[in-house]
Amino acid sequence: NITRKDEKYVFSIVMKRQTYECPECHSSHVNIKANKSKKLVGAQFNNCPSIYMIHFKRLCCRDCGSSFYDHVPLADETTKIARVTQLHILEDLKPFNSVFASVARKYDISTTKVISLFDENVQVKRHPLPRILLIDEFYFQRHSQQKYAFVMMNFENKVIVDIIKSRWQNVLSDYFYSIDAEKGKGEKREKEKVEFVCSDLYEPYRSIIATYFKNATYLVDHFHVVKLVNDQLNNTRKREMRKHSYARQSKEYRLLKFRYKLLMQYGPTVDIETYRFDSILGCHCVNKTVLDEILSISDDIKAFYDVKEAFMALDAIDEKSAAEHDLEKELDEIIKRFHQ
Ligand SMILES: [Zn+2]
Repeated sequence: NITRKDEKYVFSIVMKRQTYECPECHSSHVNIKANKSKKLVGAQFNNCPSIYMIHFKRLCCRDCGSSFYDHVPLADETTKIARVTQLHILEDLKPFNSVFASVARKYDISTTKVISLFDENVQVKRHPLPRILLIDEFYFQRHSQQKYAFVMMNFENKVIVDIIKSRWQNVLSDYFYSIDAEKGKGEKREKEKVEFVCSDLYEPYRSIIATYFKNATYLVDHFHVVKLVNDQLNNTRKREMRKHSYARQSKEYRLLKFRYKLLMQYGPTVDIETYRFDSILGCHCVNKTVLDEILSISDDIKAFYDVKEAFMALDAIDEKSAAEHDLEKELDEIIKRFHQ
């Protein structure tokens, strides 16, 4: 019998009477004890959620006295979602952009239920560790204790190798320890195949890489290094600016406060052609002139700026011209200058 209630279809299903058999002693002397019913989440019907109301019997064996239930084939005893609905939900979750909450709405169940159904049924296996491994984290959920999830990617084919619920060092350490843990002596170890690992400067990653990827070269994405250098240059600028804060109308203070972006820009790209009126300098000039004015304010800024530029020039060297440089030596020189 089908009825409609609260925007939902209710299928009332009565289990057919049959010859019952006791599951304990296999006797067929079975009495009906009570009428039972249970509610299952049904599949969508006419674009509406539905409910399967199942009417079944509680039975009792006359020979051994054990009591049992009529078999309900639509779902097992532990769940309130019909088997067919579970399959529909999992199918709806297949597209990468599907959302737990909207699937939950479609069947009128809670988002938590959809998530646990997914977790129970979907186990995504880890891909083998690649030759070039990229690691990073992404913001996962605000309410969880572990706000960031850890992600690994194969640089060469852009496939996600695995996602781990936390980027905490103890979690990662357990995870990487367990890879290869059961391999015998002669067997090739997966971790040894990794030649490069690339990450940001997050301290736990450095220690994980040093511990578990001894054969690999640790690469830091240059974006993070450039940011680090620029942040330090910015700190130097702010320190100098504070020295002039007693005279906020001074040229020095205003240049450091309002024209600082020229310091961050890579030198060779600073404009040397377009004349514009600069309100701080009070004349028409090119950006390069403004930059030179800023650099003349403080020796500290000038010194830091020069090393930053040297680093950026080194960073800009491409594969073709790399052979003309002794990159390792040049980088060591730059690091020495940063220390100074
Ligand atoms: Zn029995």
